[in-house]
Amino acid sequence: LVELRHVDKHFGDLHVLRDINLTVRKGEVLVILGPSGSGKSTLCRTINRLEPIDSGEIIIDGQPLPEEGKDLTRLRAEVGMVFQSFNLFAHKSIVDNVTLAPRKVRHMSKEDATAEAMRLLASVGVADQAAKMPAQLSGGQQQRVAIARSLAMHPKVMLFDEPTSALDPEMISEVLDVMVDLAHQGMTMIVVTHEMGFARQAADRVVFMADGQIVEQGTPSEFFDHTTTDRAKEFLGKIL
Ligand code: ATP
Ligand code: MG
Repeated sequence: LVELRHVDKHFGDLHVLRDINLTVRKGEVLVILGPSGSGKSTLCRTINRLEPIDSGEIIIDGQPLPEEGKDLTRLRAEVGMVFQSFNLFAHKSIVDNVTLAPRKVRHMSKEDATAEAMRLLASVGVADQAAKMPAQLSGGQQQRVAIARSLAMHPKVMLFDEPTSALDPEMISEVLDVMVDLAHQGMTMIVVTHEMGFARQAADRVVFMADGQIVEQGTPSEFFDHTTTDRAKEFLGKIL
């Protein structure tokens, strides 16, 4: 469903992505691990074209990534993204946060968009917060709203960049539970996280990045229990 071929990217002199080749199948949950600065966020951002690449190709559902214009709007609708900071629209209610894009981009009626939003808010456990403003919700609730908001566009793939890193410990599991649910429903997911429990439990495949390269990849048990590269062993030694 998502294919990266020989993707290279520089920020000035910094070679931030080096010949990245990666295929994510439909329904697959891919977890990306790696030290700070290894290029994980940049990789995510290239997939929904928040960052241009220098060379190589990114293909989503058979379509090469568009450069700009109307096709870019379509692409962004197909690739949902959830960040560390929840990025909700602060001056809009929870339900309006979720209905905004479907109404604007998909031209849904207010009634249909609201019905869908309420269904999605219920699925992430925050339907009772629909009329509130974002600042009135906890971090974990806001992040679940951010997930519902992405899902409202019916994305083909969901990107998560450290979705729980900004949360208090007691709120991490409520967000991870929603992500595990989503995985079980068959959503294709690319997840950057430091939550090793989630990686073990939910990942079909773990990709370890260092210095802009994919250094090692495998199933969770291959990666965690039979780590082959020194670079990955060193990383796991620090965090486990
Ligand atoms: P972290 O775990 O800290 O989030 P990361 O693996 O997500 O790290 P990236 O954010 O992708 O790493 O950054 C990779 C490298 O690219 C870093 O050295 C970073 O400083 C650099 N970088 C990222 N964004 C930019 C930018 N817009 N301009 C210049 N350099 C950048
Ligand atoms: Mg990052």
